[in-house]
Amino acid sequence: MAVSVENAAHLEERETEKQEFACGRCGYGIVVASEPPVCPMCRSSAWGLARRELVSLRVVS
Ligand SMILES: [Zn+2]
Repeated sequence: MAVSVENAAHLEERETEKQEFACGRCGYGIVVASEPPVCPMCRSSAWGLARRELVSLRVVS
C-alpha cells in the first residue's frame, strides 16, 4: 500500500464515507461504505483502494 493513498482518504472523507475498491486480481471496481466482500467476478478478497479522484465523480448520495 502506498502512503499517498491514506493521505487522499482523509481528504475524501469530508465529502463521502464511501470508498472505491479495485479487485487486485481481475481489476473489478466497486464503491462501498465499508470493507468490500469477495469479488463477484473472481471471488478474490484482495482488494486495493482505487483512485480517490474517481470516487467523487461517480458516487451519488
Ligand atoms: Zn476480482
